[in-house]
Amino acid sequence: MKVLIVEDDLDIAEILAEALIDQHHVVDVARDGQTGLDFVESYDFDLIVLDVGLPKIDGLDLCQRLRREGHNTPVLMLTARNTLDDKVRGLDAGADDYMVKPFDLPELEARMRALVRRGSVTLPPVLEWGMLCLNPNTCQVTYGGQPIHLTPKEYGLLELFLRNGLRVFSRSALIERLWNFGEPPGEETVKMHVKSLRQKLKMVGAPEDMIETVYGLGYRLKQKQPSRMSESKAS
Ligand code: CA
Repeated sequence: MKVLIVEDDLDIAEILAEALIDQHHVVDVARDGQTGLDFVESYDFDLIVLDVGLPKIDGLDLCQRLRREGHNTPVLMLTARNTLDDKVRGLDAGADDYMVKPFDLPELEARMRALVRRGSVTLPPVLEWGMLCLNPNTCQVTYGGQPIHLTPKEYGLLELFLRNGLRVFSRSALIERLWNFGEPPGEETVKMHVKSLRQKLKMVGAPEDMIETVYGLGYRLKQKQPSRMSESKAS
């Protein structure tokens, strides 16, 4: 998934970004509230980690403004302050969750996963599609129990498809969702990642067209195939 970190403390931003990139997420970092706002108005994010004390626009104002403008992206607020009043103000400003610095990284990551699951449809902790299984907690992907070793971009592609059911993604939409601001690739690169993801799925016995091409539109996850049991019943 794609995460925006709005944090002026560079050490914290870096620790967070590294941890998220390790979990195969795509990360953009804004160092003040105005840049954060510009990012949210220009790109789609799955989650925003928002510091309260920020230059230019503070976290509370930024969150209020995003909600007023109709942005529903989940917001996890971070603050050094630990008073009940700040927590209440954060949640009242439209934040979905709240953590106090110094925070415990595994707990923050778990809360982020929970927030993303709560999105438009409530998703289970482990994403499944037929015999394919992707566990965002461990970043492990298996097909029929066999592990599949994916690069971060292949993993990102698969996770995006699994989180969005039968939605079709154009190559440019995939670029927007899976690459950060500084590194937009050409559409050929997307094609290449999809191709290698398909090959890896095929190698473990998944249907060749599990990620199907919708001509002129893009790619999507093919409708669920029947499980082995119902296949054998049918034959
Ligand atoms: Ca700060």
